[in-house]
Amino acid sequence: TAENAGKMDKNIVSSSHSDCELHGMNLVHRFFYNASKYTNKIALECGVTGRKYTYEMMGHLIRRCGSALTRAGFQKGDVMAIISPNVPEFPIALLGASSVGMPVALVNPTFTPDEMVRQLTAVGATVIFGVAPMAELLQKVAQMCPSIRQVILLGPPMEGFVCFQQMLQDSGDLFNENIDIDVHKDTFLLPHSSGTTGMPKSVMLTHANVGANVSQNIHPGSSTNQMATDQHQETHICLLPFFHSYGVTGILNIGFDLGAKMVTLPRFDVPSYLKAIEDHKPTLLHVVPTLAQLFIKHPALKMESFERLHTIFSAAAPLGMQTANNLLEKFNKSNLIIQEGYGLSEMSPGAMLTPLNNDHFGSCGRLISRTKAKVVDLETGGITLGPNQQGELYLSGPQVMKGYLNNPKSTNEMIDEDGWLRTGDVAYYDEGGNFYIVDRLKELIKVKGFQVAPAELEDILSGHPAVMEAAVIGIPDEHAGELPRAFVVRKPGMESVSDAEIQAFVDTKVSSHKQIKGGIEFCDALPKNNLGKVLRRELRHQYAQQAKAV
Ligand code: AMP
Repeated sequence: TAENAGKMDKNIVSSSHSDCELHGMNLVHRFFYNASKYTNKIALECGVTGRKYTYEMMGHLIRRCGSALTRAGFQKGDVMAIISPNVPEFPIALLGASSVGMPVALVNPTFTPDEMVRQLTAVGATVIFGVAPMAELLQKVAQMCPSIRQVILLGPPMEGFVCFQQMLQDSGDLFNENIDIDVHKDTFLLPHSSGTTGMPKSVMLTHANVGANVSQNIHPGSSTNQMATDQHQETHICLLPFFHSYGVTGILNIGFDLGAKMVTLPRFDVPSYLKAIEDHKPTLLHVVPTLAQLFIKHPALKMESFERLHTIFSAAAPLGMQTANNLLEKFNKSNLIIQEGYGLSEMSPGAMLTPLNNDHFGSCGRLISRTKAKVVDLETGGITLGPNQQGELYLSGPQVMKGYLNNPKSTNEMIDEDGWLRTGDVAYYDEGGNFYIVDRLKELIKVKGFQVAPAELEDILSGHPAVMEAAVIGIPDEHAGELPRAFVVRKPGMESVSDAEIQAFVDTKVSSHKQIKGGIEFCDALPKNNLGKVLRRELRHQYAQQAKAV
């Protein structure tokens, strides 16, 4: 195992934290345990409508949801797809399905129907949970996926759909508290990630994976969050989407353990985000670097709204030293902590957190409890490197995913026989165990913290009649972090087809964060190695040279 390997190699870095307790509970039981502690505290509230649920109410509704799903014939192993913006009922559907032993696939509700169908088909989903304004779209998606037996909608009863509110009227008698769930084997969540290469895949995160990551993140010394008491309750504004592992573990499931109040916002618009902050006075703000810029650049923040704020937590992309300092300056609060986290969906997702004293801005953190890392030489691929040397980052710990669903090949490429997970990120660490991400080996592009898989865009581009071949890379962008840019070789005789035409072709097929907003560049040939593999690094280098020359 990685643990044994770690004992033999002095360059393996171990967490400096003590081992957190791994509760070993399935996450439905863990919620019930939390609900019994935090009974009458508000667990979730809609930041727009004010619809809210206490921990105790949620517990009842999860039981009823589980019972209703059983009554409708769903059983362990059926997959529920949640295609929903952040609403307070999202976790009721999630844990209700989990209580029946159903893994839950997390789908981006801004996806196009084709993108949704691809993900639903890959996981073999049999039921969809969504919200009424998406009825038409979800009906279309369900028609294209023969495995879907029901579409459950939150909202008024509608013909052809199951009404979620009516499901929650279920007597609850078919709920089985003791359903057989093996926390180490049974999948709790199926988020979407392209990993180091290729098309997006479904990541199998078990109950033990996600449960471990919750415990690791709230381990004393790692987090400023406190458990709820009579006098105190953490308040979080849930704008970052629950369909991403940052949202579902880092905000939602961690929030349950803390007894936090979570205010959900279904979509991003600046006035309603700031209004929710004003109304609820959060104690911690979860951001991605793009969102951090909003606070820095906003001309008139109402500082009273931030009187309870103790931490701004950023993850999913590099925050940067400058942004961290600008945040401190803007908020001008002596005790404000800016904390950065590093992780990936395949790590459930957390692996690193910066220390709580604001003295390592620019680093993505130190290893959280029970986590090990090694930095492997890029040239030899085998030698582990000591401090201050750059190589590929590998990680191990109880939060390493079980694998990619129905994809042993990709799983084996990602996790070695000793349990080490390849991150595809280039990193180094200093003598203090602070890690720094310097580059990405993997193809992945991150736009505003969202994943974009070049392979998916290349596949769509190659479907255009004028395109002979295409390669997509990420280019730096001040606002979005990165943007996809395509290098396209046109077919002979097709030279008059413009970049705008090709761009419009792609735009109709993908959700907005995947659109090729970094531009299309035509070239005579793509740079390739002697095996015919496109050299994306060469394209990135070429683009950087051009950008410098401008
Ligand atoms: P995802 O699976 O969507 O969470 O994407 C994971 C990837 O996001 C990582 O492999 C990194 O490339 C990047 N990432 C996440 N957090 C950070 C961070 N704090 N600094 C730099 N890159 C990050």
